[in-house]
Amino acid sequence: MKNVPLYLAGEFVDSQTSEWIDVTNPATNEVIAKAPCTTDAEMRKAIESAGEMFKTWKEVPVSERARVMLRYQALLKEHHDEIAEILAQETGKTFDDAKGDVWRGIEVVEHAANVASMMMGETVENVAREVDTHSWIQPLGVCAGITPFNFPAMIPLWMFPMAIACGNTFILKPSEQDPMTPMRLAELFEEAGAPKGVLQVVHGGKEQVDVLLTDPAIKAVSFVGSVPVGRYIYETGTRNMKRVQSFAGAKNHMVILPDADKQQVINALVGASVGAAGQRCMAISVAVFVGEAQQWIPELKEAMAKVRPGAWNDSGASYGPIISAKAKDRIESLIATGEAQGAKLLLDGRGCTVDGLPDGNWVGPTLFSGVTTEMDIYNEEIFGPVLSCVETDTLGDAIELVNKSPYGNGVSIFTSSGGAARRFQHEIDVGQVGVNIPIPVPLPFFSFTGWKGSFYGDQHAYGKQAVRFYTETKTVTSRWFSSEATSTEANFSIQLR
Ligand code: NAD
Repeated sequence: MKNVPLYLAGEFVDSQTSEWIDVTNPATNEVIAKAPCTTDAEMRKAIESAGEMFKTWKEVPVSERARVMLRYQALLKEHHDEIAEILAQETGKTFDDAKGDVWRGIEVVEHAANVASMMMGETVENVAREVDTHSWIQPLGVCAGITPFNFPAMIPLWMFPMAIACGNTFILKPSEQDPMTPMRLAELFEEAGAPKGVLQVVHGGKEQVDVLLTDPAIKAVSFVGSVPVGRYIYETGTRNMKRVQSFAGAKNHMVILPDADKQQVINALVGASVGAAGQRCMAISVAVFVGEAQQWIPELKEAMAKVRPGAWNDSGASYGPIISAKAKDRIESLIATGEAQGAKLLLDGRGCTVDGLPDGNWVGPTLFSGVTTEMDIYNEEIFGPVLSCVETDTLGDAIELVNKSPYGNGVSIFTSSGGAARRFQHEIDVGQVGVNIPIPVPLPFFSFTGWKGSFYGDQHAYGKQAVRFYTETKTVTSRWFSSEATSTEANFSIQLR
């Protein structure tokens, strides 16, 4: 049994707490580690050490900060499979999917290595006589990140490399359900040459998060997780005068027009709905079949029925277990509600078993048709391998349906019509749109731009928007007198002359 350490003031240390949270292997429900509920004194130490370190880290030249990121991305690549194995064991993800989680994080580190060009300010010469103005982009100070269980490599890597490359120091509070992957990321960060104290990692739940949300030394908070917690983080953080970006839950639709390629549609729906057991914020959970495309539902059912979950190292498994027994019970109860509210249960994943792993949190692929917008399975984020099929007559009806959803993380359209795709992209009220791509997660030179109830804040994750989020703009106006033009009179106006 392993106690997960804290990363405090540059040392990996055992917490002095008496409260520990079980970390379980979701394929067996065995306890594989214990994560500490960081004490108040340890939280204080993390914040003070990050504050102290900021004074020196912000003075490190931007190219040196970028070089730390270059070394870090090389080390992460070198240890890619090893990190993916730790990740697969604590999340249950298949090895392939775990590797994808690590890889998409590495891409952000690569992007962070280009920070200098993203931190360039602006200059205008001669804004008045002998007066020039330039702006600088400066770091904020101590920033904090609170991350969810479902991407324990990618999401911490969305945050701390960008924040630290900008010259900030960072306190990470990863999910208590899979804290070992982020700890490995922290070890490698130090190995890459990041000075001790630039990154701190604390563990726990609401109590520890509340310290980060209220301590005046924390200047900005990045959060990724569920809707109720996301709202709470945004409200509490901003009430405490912090900059907050809060990425929350989702309900993503895929709209299928009858002119789409049927096989591509079926492949995309199966992978995007049950991949990672549906535990992705960009998973497709609603398929909107327009007109005659509805005839493809039986073939979709046939394809989904062939898919099975299994252990992370079972190469025949398409996805792994649900993260906890509690989350599995919630999914099963939502399936029961769907049936009770009148949806047609075409495939029932309840009671799923996997040979040799009788205690895992398994849910089989589940498919509903005839789903309507009043049903709980349409409105709730199920976060399981459950796909709801909704039928509409026209593309216009499909767009109206999607736009009424309170969420706006991702959406996609499958069609062979450029005109239909263009109309869809233009009219849809969702922040990330795929055309014949089911999960349109942007690469890090763009930003992750969820909308509506899927995001609270204004600057999004990674890309140029992350640089804006983690920095402040300072605008300097200066006059250097040359002998002829020097004014000898006092100026009582605000106008620059
Ligand atoms: P969660 O909200 O339960 O937990 C997220 C983090 O918040 C964890 O670190 C947790 O310890 C902390 N936390 C939990 N309860 C808290 C409370 N009451 N007060 C303060 N902090 C609290 O989310 P999860 O179950 O770990 O992750 C799944 C959710 O994350 C899904 O809703 C999914 O859609 C969402 N998600 C969103 C995105 C996105 O980019 N929009 C990406 C990934 C996951």
